[in-house]
Amino acid sequence: MTRRVRPERLILGALAALLCGAFAAAPAATADDRVCDYRITLLDNAATKLDITAVCDPALKVERFTALSDRRHWTTDATQHGTGNGHFGFDLGAFAAEANDMGAAMPYDGGVLVSPGFLLPLPETEAAATLRFRVEFPQGGEIQTALKPDAEGRYVVPLLRIDEVGPILLGSVGVAAVPGDPQLRLAMPADSLQLAPATLAAWVSAAAESNRRFWARSPAQGGLVVLVPSERGGIPFGRVMSLGGSVVTVLVGRQASAADLYDDWVLVHELLHLGSPLMRDTGAWLNEGIATFYEPILRARAGWKSEDDIWREWIGQMPRGMPAMTEIGLENAGRAGIYWGGALFVLLAEIEALKASGGRIGFSDCLRAVLAEGADATVKWPTARLLQRCDDLLGAPVLAPLAERHIAQGSNLGGSATALSQIWDMLGVALTADGRVRYDDRAELAWLRPLIIWGGAERPAPIPATGFHQGG
Ligand SMILES: [Zn+2]
Repeated sequence: MTRRVRPERLILGALAALLCGAFAAAPAATADDRVCDYRITLLDNAATKLDITAVCDPALKVERFTALSDRRHWTTDATQHGTGNGHFGFDLGAFAAEANDMGAAMPYDGGVLVSPGFLLPLPETEAAATLRFRVEFPQGGEIQTALKPDAEGRYVVPLLRIDEVGPILLGSVGVAAVPGDPQLRLAMPADSLQLAPATLAAWVSAAAESNRRFWARSPAQGGLVVLVPSERGGIPFGRVMSLGGSVVTVLVGRQASAADLYDDWVLVHELLHLGSPLMRDTGAWLNEGIATFYEPILRARAGWKSEDDIWREWIGQMPRGMPAMTEIGLENAGRAGIYWGGALFVLLAEIEALKASGGRIGFSDCLRAVLAEGADATVKWPTARLLQRCDDLLGAPVLAPLAERHIAQGSNLGGSATALSQIWDMLGVALTADGRVRYDDRAELAWLRPLIIWGGAERPAPIPATGFHQGG
Protein backbone atom coordinates (compact mmCIF):
# COMPACT_ATOMS: atom_id res chain seq x y z
CA MET A 1 0.00 0.00 0.00
CA THR A 2 1.32 3.38 -0.96
CA ARG A 3 1.53 6.03 1.67
CA ARG A 4 0.74 9.65 1.22
CA VAL A 5 3.79 11.68 0.38
CA ARG A 6 4.87 13.62 3.42
CA PRO A 7 7.25 16.54 3.15
CA GLU A 8 9.63 14.99 5.68
CA ARG A 9 10.11 11.99 3.38
CA LEU A 10 11.07 14.29 0.57
CA ILE A 11 13.46 16.19 2.78
CA LEU A 12 15.15 12.92 3.71
CA GLY A 13 15.35 12.13 0.02
CA ALA A 14 16.84 15.53 -0.65
CA LEU A 15 19.44 14.89 2.03
CA ALA A 16 20.25 11.51 0.51
CA ALA A 17 20.66 13.21 -2.85
CA LEU A 18 23.29 15.46 -1.31
CA LEU A 19 25.58 12.45 -1.34
CA CYS A 20 27.73 12.85 -4.37
CA GLY A 21 26.25 11.70 -7.65
CA ALA A 22 22.56 11.07 -7.11
CA PHE A 23 21.02 10.75 -10.54
CA ALA A 24 18.49 8.70 -12.48
CA ALA A 25 16.35 7.95 -15.52
CA ALA A 26 14.47 10.56 -17.54
CA PRO A 27 10.82 11.18 -16.74
CA ALA A 28 8.09 11.74 -19.30
CA ALA A 29 4.37 11.89 -18.74
CA THR A 30 2.58 8.95 -20.31
CA ALA A 31 -1.13 8.49 -20.96
CA ASP A 32 -1.44 6.45 -17.75
CA ASP A 33 0.03 9.10 -15.46
CA ARG A 34 -2.16 11.24 -13.26
CA VAL A 35 -1.00 14.80 -13.71
CA CYS A 36 -0.94 17.96 -11.66
CA ASP A 37 -0.49 20.94 -13.96
CA TYR A 38 1.17 24.07 -12.60
CA ARG A 39 1.44 27.53 -14.03
CA ILE A 40 4.18 29.57 -12.37
CA THR A 41 4.19 33.30 -13.04
CA LEU A 42 7.21 35.41 -12.10
CA LEU A 43 5.83 38.67 -10.73
CA ASP A 44 9.23 40.36 -11.10
CA ASN A 45 12.28 39.65 -13.23
CA ALA A 46 14.35 38.47 -10.24
CA ALA A 47 11.82 35.71 -9.36
CA THR A 48 11.41 36.97 -5.81
CA LYS A 49 7.58 36.80 -5.91
CA LEU A 50 5.69 34.01 -7.67
CA ASP A 51 2.05 33.35 -8.44
CA ILE A 52 1.37 29.62 -8.81
CA THR A 53 -1.78 27.79 -9.81
CA ALA A 54 -2.13 24.01 -9.57
CA VAL A 55 -4.78 21.82 -11.18
CA CYS A 56 -4.65 18.12 -10.33
CA ASP A 57 -6.42 15.22 -12.01
CA PRO A 58 -9.49 14.46 -9.81
CA ALA A 59 -8.42 10.78 -9.78
CA LEU A 60 -5.46 11.80 -7.61
CA LYS A 61 -8.00 12.74 -4.87
CA VAL A 62 -5.81 15.62 -3.71
CA GLU A 63 -7.21 17.21 -0.57
CA ARG A 64 -4.34 19.50 0.18
CA PHE A 65 -0.93 20.71 -0.93
CA THR A 66 2.16 21.04 1.19
CA ALA A 67 5.41 22.89 0.67
CA LEU A 68 8.87 21.80 1.76
CA SER A 69 9.73 25.35 2.67
CA ASP A 70 8.30 27.19 5.66
CA ARG A 71 4.61 28.07 5.24
CA ARG A 72 5.41 31.65 6.29
CA HIS A 73 6.55 32.19 2.71
CA TRP A 74 3.23 31.05 1.22
CA THR A 75 -0.25 32.48 0.93
CA THR A 76 -3.12 30.27 -0.17
CA ASP A 77 -6.78 29.56 0.56
CA ALA A 78 -6.55 25.98 1.80
CA THR A 79 -10.34 25.57 1.74
CA GLN A 80 -10.05 25.41 -2.06
CA HIS A 81 -7.55 22.54 -2.08
CA GLY A 82 -10.10 19.75 -1.70
CA THR A 83 -10.99 20.10 -5.36
CA GLY A 84 -7.43 19.28 -6.36
CA ASN A 85 -6.92 22.91 -7.31
CA GLY A 86 -4.72 25.44 -5.59
CA HIS A 87 -3.75 29.07 -6.00
CA PHE A 88 -0.61 30.22 -4.22
CA GLY A 89 1.55 33.23 -3.63
CA PHE A 90 5.18 32.27 -2.93
CA ASP A 91 7.80 34.66 -1.58
CA LEU A 92 10.64 32.74 -3.20
CA GLY A 93 13.07 35.60 -2.63
CA ALA A 94 12.54 35.54 1.14
CA PHE A 95 12.73 31.74 1.28
CA ALA A 96 15.94 31.68 -0.80
CA ALA A 97 17.58 34.35 1.35
CA GLU A 98 16.65 32.47 4.52
CA ALA A 99 17.58 28.97 3.30
CA ASN A 100 20.68 29.99 1.28
CA ASP A 101 21.14 26.30 0.53
CA MET A 102 21.96 24.93 -2.93
CA GLY A 103 19.89 21.82 -2.12
CA ALA A 104 16.76 23.91 -1.46
CA ALA A 105 16.97 27.51 -2.70
CA MET A 106 19.44 30.36 -2.64
CA PRO A 107 19.78 33.83 -4.16
CA TYR A 108 21.79 33.49 -7.35
CA ASP A 109 23.03 36.31 -9.56
CA GLY A 110 19.90 38.26 -10.57
CA GLY A 111 17.56 35.45 -9.60
CA VAL A 112 17.21 32.29 -7.56
CA LEU A 113 18.64 28.76 -7.69
CA VAL A 114 15.82 26.46 -6.56
CA SER A 115 15.14 22.72 -6.51
CA PRO A 116 11.75 21.79 -8.04
CA GLY A 117 10.73 20.02 -4.80
CA PHE A 118 10.99 23.38 -3.03
CA LEU A 119 9.43 25.38 -5.86
CA LEU A 120 6.16 23.49 -6.35
CA PRO A 121 3.42 23.10 -3.72
CA LEU A 122 3.28 19.29 -3.55
CA PRO A 123 -0.04 17.42 -3.73
CA GLU A 124 -0.75 14.93 -0.99
CA THR A 125 -1.91 11.84 -2.85
CA GLU A 126 -1.67 8.08 -2.67
CA ALA A 127 -1.12 7.81 -6.43
CA ALA A 128 2.10 8.19 -8.41
CA ALA A 129 1.49 11.71 -9.62
CA THR A 130 3.34 13.44 -12.41
CA LEU A 131 3.94 17.15 -11.90
CA ARG A 132 4.00 19.28 -15.03
CA PHE A 133 4.86 22.96 -14.87
CA ARG A 134 5.20 25.91 -17.17
CA VAL A 135 6.76 29.23 -16.26
CA GLU A 136 5.64 32.64 -17.51
CA PHE A 137 7.58 35.89 -17.35
CA PRO A 138 5.32 38.93 -17.89
CA GLN A 139 7.87 41.18 -16.11
CA GLY A 140 10.99 39.58 -17.67
CA GLY A 141 13.37 36.96 -16.39
CA GLU A 142 13.77 33.42 -17.64
CA ILE A 143 14.24 29.78 -16.66
CA GLN A 144 17.51 27.87 -17.03
CA THR A 145 17.16 24.14 -16.52
CA ALA A 146 18.50 20.81 -17.76
CA LEU A 147 14.91 19.55 -17.98
CA LYS A 148 13.68 19.27 -21.55
CA PRO A 149 10.37 21.04 -22.21
CA ASP A 150 7.57 19.10 -23.92
CA ALA A 151 5.97 20.31 -27.15
CA GLU A 152 3.89 22.79 -25.15
CA GLY A 153 6.81 24.19 -23.18
CA ARG A 154 6.05 22.32 -19.96
CA TYR A 155 8.56 20.55 -17.73
CA VAL A 156 7.70 17.14 -16.29
CA VAL A 157 8.88 15.69 -12.98
CA PRO A 158 7.61 12.65 -11.04
CA LEU A 159 6.34 13.49 -7.55
CA LEU A 160 7.93 10.47 -5.89
CA ARG A 161 11.39 11.20 -7.29
CA ILE A 162 11.28 14.98 -7.34
CA ASP A 163 14.27 15.04 -4.97
CA GLU A 164 16.42 13.50 -7.76
CA VAL A 165 15.75 16.42 -10.14
CA GLY A 166 18.52 18.98 -10.37
CA PRO A 167 18.00 22.63 -9.37
CA ILE A 168 16.75 25.24 -11.82
CA LEU A 169 17.55 28.93 -12.18
CA LEU A 170 14.74 31.47 -12.28
CA GLY A 171 15.03 35.20 -12.85
CA SER A 172 17.71 37.26 -14.56
CA VAL A 173 20.56 34.79 -14.58
CA GLY A 174 23.15 34.76 -17.33
CA VAL A 175 23.93 31.34 -18.75
CA ALA A 176 26.32 30.70 -21.64
CA ALA A 177 27.41 27.66 -23.62
CA VAL A 178 30.69 26.23 -22.37
CA PRO A 179 33.36 27.21 -24.93
CA GLY A 180 34.00 24.18 -27.15
CA ASP A 181 31.08 22.19 -25.77
CA PRO A 182 27.69 23.39 -27.03
CA GLN A 183 26.09 20.46 -25.19
CA LEU A 184 26.97 22.03 -21.86
CA ARG A 185 25.81 25.37 -20.41
CA LEU A 186 27.46 27.25 -17.59
CA ALA A 187 25.96 29.52 -14.96
CA MET A 188 28.14 31.58 -12.66
CA PRO A 189 27.20 34.52 -10.52
CA ALA A 190 28.87 37.72 -11.69
CA ASP A 191 30.97 39.58 -9.12
CA SER A 192 30.67 36.94 -6.37
CA LEU A 193 34.01 35.29 -7.01
CA GLN A 194 37.50 36.69 -6.99
CA LEU A 195 38.30 34.89 -10.24
CA ALA A 196 37.36 36.55 -13.52
CA PRO A 197 34.40 34.99 -15.38
CA ALA A 198 36.68 34.29 -18.37
CA THR A 199 39.07 32.33 -16.13
CA LEU A 200 36.23 30.26 -14.69
CA ALA A 201 34.73 29.63 -18.14
CA ALA A 202 38.16 28.55 -19.43
CA TRP A 203 38.48 26.11 -16.53
CA VAL A 204 35.07 24.52 -17.11
CA SER A 205 35.82 24.42 -20.82
CA ALA A 206 39.17 22.68 -20.24
CA ALA A 207 37.63 20.18 -17.80
CA ALA A 208 34.84 19.48 -20.30
CA GLU A 209 37.47 18.95 -23.01
CA SER A 210 39.36 16.44 -20.85
CA ASN A 211 36.03 14.69 -20.29
CA ARG A 212 35.14 14.67 -24.01
CA ARG A 213 38.53 13.18 -24.83
CA PHE A 214 37.85 10.34 -22.42
CA TRP A 215 34.31 9.65 -23.63
CA ALA A 216 35.15 10.33 -27.31
CA ARG A 217 32.07 12.64 -27.33
CA SER A 218 30.30 15.10 -25.07
CA PRO A 219 28.30 13.17 -22.49
CA ALA A 220 26.53 16.35 -21.38
CA GLN A 221 23.40 16.33 -23.64
CA GLY A 222 21.95 19.69 -22.65
CA GLY A 223 23.49 19.57 -19.18
CA LEU A 224 23.99 22.55 -16.94
CA VAL A 225 27.02 23.40 -14.79
CA VAL A 226 26.20 25.77 -11.92
CA LEU A 227 29.07 27.38 -10.01
CA VAL A 228 28.03 28.35 -6.48
CA PRO A 229 30.19 30.74 -4.42
CA SER A 230 31.37 29.35 -1.09
CA GLU A 231 33.01 30.84 1.97
CA ARG A 232 35.17 27.73 2.15
CA GLY A 233 38.46 27.53 0.27
CA GLY A 234 39.26 25.91 -3.09
CA ILE A 235 36.55 23.68 -4.58
CA PRO A 236 34.93 22.20 -1.47
CA PHE A 237 32.05 20.22 -2.97
CA GLY A 238 30.27 19.10 -6.11
CA ARG A 239 27.41 16.86 -7.10
CA VAL A 240 25.40 15.67 -10.09
CA MET A 241 21.63 15.30 -10.25
CA SER A 242 20.34 13.86 -13.51
CA LEU A 243 16.66 12.93 -13.38
CA GLY A 244 15.35 14.45 -16.62
CA GLY A 245 18.67 16.18 -17.39
CA SER A 246 22.10 16.51 -15.80
CA VAL A 247 22.91 19.40 -13.47
CA VAL A 248 26.45 19.62 -12.09
CA THR A 249 26.58 21.92 -9.07
CA VAL A 250 30.05 22.89 -7.89
CA LEU A 251 30.96 25.03 -4.91
CA VAL A 252 33.81 27.44 -5.68
CA GLY A 253 35.60 29.34 -2.92
CA ARG A 254 35.14 33.09 -3.25
CA GLN A 255 38.91 33.47 -2.83
CA ALA A 256 39.88 30.50 -5.04
CA SER A 257 42.84 31.06 -7.37
CA ALA A 258 43.35 29.74 -10.90
CA ALA A 259 45.87 27.24 -9.50
CA ASP A 260 43.22 25.95 -7.08
CA LEU A 261 40.92 25.18 -10.00
CA TYR A 262 43.23 22.92 -11.99
CA ASP A 263 44.78 21.39 -8.89
CA ASP A 264 41.38 20.14 -7.73
CA TRP A 265 39.50 16.92 -8.49
CA VAL A 266 35.84 17.84 -7.90
CA LEU A 267 34.72 19.21 -11.30
CA VAL A 268 36.53 16.50 -13.30
CA HIS A 269 35.00 13.83 -11.02
CA GLU A 270 31.47 15.22 -11.43
CA LEU A 271 31.78 15.60 -15.21
CA LEU A 272 32.91 11.96 -15.43
CA HIS A 273 29.59 10.96 -13.84
CA LEU A 274 27.73 12.37 -16.86
CA GLY A 275 28.93 9.54 -19.13
CA SER A 276 27.68 6.45 -17.29
CA PRO A 277 24.17 5.18 -16.57
CA LEU A 278 22.98 5.39 -13.00
CA MET A 279 23.61 2.04 -11.32
CA ARG A 280 22.15 1.73 -7.84
CA ASP A 281 20.85 -1.87 -7.60
CA THR A 282 24.07 -2.98 -5.89
CA GLY A 283 24.90 0.43 -4.41
CA ALA A 284 26.74 3.46 -5.73
CA TRP A 285 30.19 1.84 -5.79
CA LEU A 286 30.53 1.38 -9.57
CA ASN A 287 29.46 4.94 -10.44
CA GLU A 288 31.75 6.31 -7.74
CA GLY A 289 34.52 3.89 -8.64
CA ILE A 290 34.50 5.02 -12.28
CA ALA A 291 34.66 8.71 -11.33
CA THR A 292 37.26 8.16 -8.59
CA PHE A 293 39.53 5.97 -10.73
CA TYR A 294 39.54 8.00 -13.96
CA GLU A 295 39.58 11.51 -12.43
CA PRO A 296 43.37 11.64 -11.79
CA ILE A 297 43.93 9.94 -15.15
CA LEU A 298 42.00 12.66 -16.98
CA ARG A 299 43.96 15.35 -15.19
CA ALA A 300 47.27 13.67 -16.00
CA ARG A 301 46.26 13.35 -19.66
CA ALA A 302 45.40 17.07 -19.62
CA GLY A 303 48.84 17.85 -18.15
CA TRP A 304 47.51 19.05 -14.77
CA LYS A 305 48.89 16.15 -12.73
CA SER A 306 51.95 13.94 -13.07
CA GLU A 307 51.99 10.17 -13.54
CA ASP A 308 54.00 9.94 -10.31
CA ASP A 309 51.18 11.68 -8.47
CA ILE A 310 48.64 9.14 -9.72
CA TRP A 311 50.62 6.11 -8.54
CA ARG A 312 51.46 7.82 -5.26
CA GLU A 313 47.75 8.51 -4.73
CA TRP A 314 46.68 4.98 -5.67
CA ILE A 315 49.33 3.25 -3.57
CA GLY A 316 48.33 5.46 -0.65
CA GLN A 317 44.52 5.41 -1.08
CA MET A 318 43.58 2.07 -2.69
CA PRO A 319 44.04 0.19 0.62
CA ARG A 320 40.90 2.04 1.77
CA GLY A 321 38.98 -0.07 -0.73
CA MET A 322 40.34 -3.39 0.51
CA PRO A 323 37.72 -4.09 3.22
CA ALA A 324 34.90 -3.70 0.67
CA MET A 325 36.69 -5.79 -1.96
CA THR A 326 38.12 -8.55 0.20
CA GLU A 327 35.96 -8.76 3.34
CA ILE A 328 32.39 -7.43 3.17
CA GLY A 329 31.64 -7.04 -0.56
CA LEU A 330 31.16 -3.84 -2.55
CA GLU A 331 27.38 -3.74 -2.16
CA ASN A 332 27.84 -3.69 1.63
CA ALA A 333 30.45 -0.94 1.59
CA GLY A 334 29.75 2.18 3.61
CA ARG A 335 30.26 5.68 2.32
CA ALA A 336 34.04 5.54 2.71
CA GLY A 337 34.24 2.16 0.97
CA ILE A 338 32.30 2.94 -2.19
CA TYR A 339 34.85 5.41 -3.60
CA TRP A 340 38.06 3.45 -3.15
CA GLY A 341 36.41 0.01 -3.20
CA GLY A 342 34.86 1.01 -6.50
CA ALA A 343 38.15 2.47 -7.77
CA LEU A 344 40.01 -0.73 -6.87
CA PHE A 345 37.39 -2.78 -8.72
CA VAL A 346 37.81 -0.54 -11.78
CA LEU A 347 41.62 -0.92 -11.60
CA LEU A 348 41.24 -4.71 -11.62
CA ALA A 349 38.60 -4.47 -14.37
CA GLU A 350 40.99 -2.37 -16.46
CA ILE A 351 43.88 -4.78 -15.90
CA GLU A 352 41.82 -7.92 -16.58
CA ALA A 353 40.19 -6.48 -19.71
CA LEU A 354 43.53 -5.32 -21.15
CA LYS A 355 45.16 -8.66 -20.35
CA ALA A 356 42.30 -10.64 -21.90
CA SER A 357 42.36 -8.56 -25.09
CA GLY A 358 46.11 -8.31 -25.50
CA GLY A 359 45.89 -4.57 -24.77
CA ARG A 360 43.17 -3.84 -27.36
CA ILE A 361 40.19 -3.30 -25.05
CA GLY A 362 40.22 -1.75 -21.59
CA PHE A 363 37.35 -1.18 -19.20
CA SER A 364 37.26 2.44 -20.40
CA ASP A 365 36.50 1.14 -23.93
CA CYS A 366 33.52 -0.68 -22.46
CA LEU A 367 32.32 2.54 -20.82
CA ARG A 368 32.62 4.41 -24.13
CA ALA A 369 30.63 1.67 -25.87
CA VAL A 370 27.86 1.96 -23.28
CA LEU A 371 27.69 5.76 -23.66
CA ALA A 372 27.73 5.47 -27.46
CA GLU A 373 24.55 3.39 -27.09
CA GLY A 374 22.92 6.31 -25.29
CA ALA A 375 23.26 5.18 -21.67
CA ASP A 376 24.36 8.44 -20.06
CA ALA A 377 23.66 9.69 -16.53
CA THR A 378 19.96 10.27 -17.24
CA VAL A 379 19.49 6.52 -17.88
CA LYS A 380 19.22 3.84 -15.22
CA TRP A 381 20.87 0.43 -15.67
CA PRO A 382 21.46 -2.60 -13.47
CA THR A 383 25.14 -2.98 -12.57
CA ALA A 384 25.32 -6.41 -14.21
CA ARG A 385 24.15 -5.00 -17.54
CA LEU A 386 27.15 -2.69 -17.81
CA LEU A 387 29.58 -5.42 -16.79
CA GLN A 388 27.97 -7.85 -19.27
CA ARG A 389 28.28 -5.23 -22.03
CA CYS A 390 32.02 -5.25 -21.35
CA ASP A 391 32.23 -9.03 -21.51
CA ASP A 392 30.29 -8.91 -24.80
CA LEU A 393 32.88 -6.49 -26.17
CA LEU A 394 35.72 -8.69 -24.92
CA GLY A 395 34.05 -11.85 -26.22
CA ALA A 396 34.86 -13.65 -22.96
CA PRO A 397 33.64 -13.70 -19.36
CA VAL A 398 36.09 -11.33 -17.66
CA LEU A 399 34.04 -8.80 -15.67
CA ALA A 400 31.27 -11.20 -14.61
CA PRO A 401 33.67 -13.43 -12.62
CA LEU A 402 35.29 -10.34 -11.07
CA ALA A 403 31.83 -9.12 -9.99
CA GLU A 404 31.00 -12.59 -8.67
CA ARG A 405 34.01 -12.43 -6.38
CA HIS A 406 33.60 -8.91 -4.99
CA ILE A 407 30.04 -7.53 -5.08
CA ALA A 408 27.91 -9.66 -2.74
CA GLN A 409 30.80 -10.70 -0.54
CA GLY A 410 34.51 -10.09 -0.20
CA SER A 411 37.13 -12.34 -1.72
CA ASN A 412 40.88 -12.17 -2.09
CA LEU A 413 42.05 -10.26 -5.14
CA GLY A 414 42.50 -13.52 -7.00
CA GLY A 415 44.67 -14.60 -9.91
CA SER A 416 48.32 -14.31 -9.17
CA ALA A 417 47.75 -11.39 -6.79
CA THR A 418 46.35 -11.92 -3.33
CA ALA A 419 47.44 -8.55 -1.93
CA LEU A 420 47.44 -5.03 -3.26
CA SER A 421 51.24 -4.88 -3.00
CA GLN A 422 51.47 -7.74 -5.52
CA ILE A 423 49.43 -5.73 -8.02
CA TRP A 424 51.86 -2.81 -7.73
CA ASP A 425 54.76 -5.30 -8.10
CA MET A 426 53.24 -6.76 -11.27
CA LEU A 427 52.67 -3.28 -12.70
CA GLY A 428 56.23 -2.37 -11.76
CA VAL A 429 55.54 0.59 -9.47
CA ALA A 430 56.82 1.13 -5.95
CA LEU A 431 57.09 3.98 -3.47
CA THR A 432 60.56 4.63 -2.12
CA ALA A 433 61.13 5.48 1.54
CA ASP A 434 61.36 9.18 0.67
CA GLY A 435 58.02 9.12 -1.17
CA ARG A 436 59.28 8.97 -4.76
CA VAL A 437 57.79 6.57 -7.33
CA ARG A 438 60.15 3.97 -8.81
CA TYR A 439 59.22 2.16 -12.04
CA ASP A 440 60.38 -1.28 -13.14
CA ASP A 441 59.80 -1.82 -16.85
CA ARG A 442 60.73 -5.51 -16.58
CA ALA A 443 57.71 -6.23 -14.36
CA GLU A 444 55.18 -8.71 -15.72
CA LEU A 445 52.41 -6.14 -16.38
CA ALA A 446 54.57 -3.02 -16.86
CA TRP A 447 53.32 -2.88 -20.46
CA LEU A 448 49.84 -2.01 -19.14
CA ARG A 449 50.97 1.20 -17.41
CA PRO A 450 50.88 3.53 -20.44
CA LEU A 451 47.59 1.97 -21.57
CA ILE A 452 46.03 2.65 -18.16
CA ILE A 453 47.48 6.12 -17.62
CA TRP A 454 47.62 7.55 -21.15
CA GLY A 455 45.08 5.36 -22.93
CA GLY A 456 47.75 4.33 -25.44
CA ALA A 457 51.49 4.28 -25.99
CA GLU A 458 51.78 8.04 -26.32
CA ARG A 459 51.16 10.74 -23.77
CA PRO A 460 48.38 13.01 -25.13
CA ALA A 461 48.93 16.72 -25.80
CA PRO A 462 48.19 18.83 -22.71
CA ILE A 463 45.07 20.98 -22.47
CA PRO A 464 46.05 24.62 -21.73
CA ALA A 465 45.29 25.65 -18.16
CA THR A 466 45.30 29.41 -17.76
CA GLY A 467 47.15 30.49 -14.64
CA PHE A 468 48.15 27.00 -13.59
CA HIS A 469 51.74 25.77 -13.40
CA GLN A 470 52.12 22.25 -12.19
CA GLY A 471 54.83 21.83 -9.62
CA GLY A 472 57.23 18.91 -9.17
ZN1 LIG B 1 30.91 11.06 -7.31
